[in-house]
Formats: sequence, C-alpha cells, structure tokens
Amino acid sequence: MNAEPKTIGVRAPNWLGDAVLSLPALRDLRAAFPAARLEVVARPAVAPLYGAVPALDGIREVKGLRAEVAALRGFDVGVLFTNSLGTALAMRLAGVRERWGYARDGRGLLLTRAARRPAATGGRSQVFYYRAMLEQIGVATSGAPDASLTCPEAWRTSARALLGGGEHFVGVAPGAAYGGAKRWPAARFAAAAGLLARERGARVVVVGTAAERPAGALLARECGALDLCGRTSLPELVGVLAELDLLLTNDSGPMHVAAALGTPVVATFGPTDWRETAPFGGRTAIAREPVECAPCRFRECPIDHRCMERLEPARVAETARALLRGESGGRA
Ligand code: SF4
Repeated sequence: MNAEPKTIGVRAPNWLGDAVLSLPALRDLRAAFPAARLEVVARPAVAPLYGAVPALDGIREVKGLRAEVAALRGFDVGVLFTNSLGTALAMRLAGVRERWGYARDGRGLLLTRAARRPAATGGRSQVFYYRAMLEQIGVATSGAPDASLTCPEAWRTSARALLGGGEHFVGVAPGAAYGGAKRWPAARFAAAAGLLARERGARVVVVGTAAERPAGALLARECGALDLCGRTSLPELVGVLAELDLLLTNDSGPMHVAAALGTPVVATFGPTDWRETAPFGGRTAIAREPVECAPCRFRECPIDHRCMERLEPARVAETARALLRGESGGRA
C-alpha cells in the first residue's frame, strides 16, 4: 500500500499481560500514522483495558468469529498482535485489504505483509517481540517503549467504593491463569503481605477472578485481607491496582497492569522466563529462586516445585522494602 491508510484496526492479544506488553507497538503505530483513525478490536476479557489508553479512536469488543469479521469490515489496514490462524482468517473474511502480522500458525499466505517470528528473544522483554514485527514490515519504531496505562478517574472512584475507606493498601494477586506452576503458595503471600501491611499501617487487599476465591479466603483468615476475588470488573480491577501502595503478585495479568499504572510491583517468578515477561516499568522487582530447571515453562511442575517452595516470605518482603525505599536492583 502506497497511500497512507485512513483507518487501522489492531487485533489485540487475548491475554491481559500480552495486551499491556503490546502497548508500545500500538503507540508506534499511532506515531507512524498520526492522521489515521486507529481502533482496537479485542475480546471482552481485554477490551475495557483500552479505556485506559489515550489517543485511540475506538474500541470494538468482539466474541466469536462472526462478530469479529463484522467488526473488522471497513479497515484499510489490519494489524495482528495475535498469533493465531483464526484471527488472520477473520481479517481476510472481513475484506481488510492490508493484513500485517507475524507469519505464524500457518497463516503466512493470508497476510500482505508478513514478519518472520524471531528465532530467539535474546533474553529481552516481550515488548520487543511486538516492536520487531512492526520493524520487519516497515513501520518505524522509535523512542523508549511506553507501556503505560492512565487510570480514568471514574475507575478510581469505583475502586475506592470497593476498598471501603482507608488510605494504604498492600495488594496481593495470587492467581495465574496459565497454570499452577506459576503460583507462589497463598499462605506465603499472606505471610509476606501481612508483614508489610503491619509495618506500613496498611490493609491487605486480594484481587483476582472467582477462581482465586480459595486463596482470597485464606488471606482474609490469615491477615484480615479484604477479598475482592471475583468481585471486580476489569475497570474496577484497574482502579484498585492504581490505588495500591504495593502489589505482590505472581507472573500474571494484574502484574502487568499494575506495572503499567506505575504501582510498585514485586513479582514472584518460577517456571516462566523472567527476562521475557517480567513486569515492564521502573517501579518493579522480581523475586525468584535460581533453580537449575528454570525457566521450564511447564504449566504444572513435574517435580517438587522447588522454584516456588524455596522462596521464603521474608525474602519477598525484603525485596518489597528495597523497592519502596527506591533502591535499584531490587531483584532477589
Ligand atoms: S520444573 Fe523447576 S522451574 Fe519448572 S515448575 Fe518445577 S521447580 Fe519450577
């Protein structure tokens, strides 16, 4: 395509964390095509997040192939931040003339500008995976990657109502949708968060989906936490994360959202690659045990889960203190 596109539709990733890590590439598109109408097409689990991204011209929420095809009709250019054949097929069926993305999952022939998946990430954040795709297809990227989110005031107001008063909160996000291997035990979160909350005169707040209710109940019992698991919409979750003094979390969607909001984050890492999916932002630290088998990327641990079981609450708490003191190199 030689003429500048008038409309660009970006198919967002389906996972919250990936949506955050692709924000710098989204901003690169905005900068490269300042006059185009730039919209995001996303699943319901992710779409509301883009309400915290200024400079977008529209958000189209879709569920199912038929809705996706209908939502994509009329765009001059479609950009895939997803990796699946199905999302490329939807763009083709919608008649989007220019279809850009990685040639993965057998979809190369459906794309008009196809990037080759990097053989290795080189130990870099996944932020650069999305940017490398744009660079390969001829879209300029420049400047330091900006993965920030701006919490709308209305979302903060809703969050304050849920929090029910108080000024200081230590958050805990004990879930990890990917699998059990990524989860640090809830009792350890309770010990670390309880310690930090007592030191800071704060209340512990647990966030997550309904699947995290057992962990939320445990934290409520062990350290008097306010359990919000399964009780927040995505905007309310973003509002709560923006109100926290600190978040202790597994490698999860809330981890990435909190980091993007500028909330201090300490993330426990076990089987996943901390170099690729660590929270992206200045006020973050990771706590991990340097076991020989990590990163294995297993969903469930086939041995004794030593990467998480050996990580003591006192170490996580000390990592958080160092981060809050503003010391660099807060990784443990
Ligand atoms: S194999 Fe090692 S890194 Fe993977 S989950 Fe088990 S203990 Fe953790």
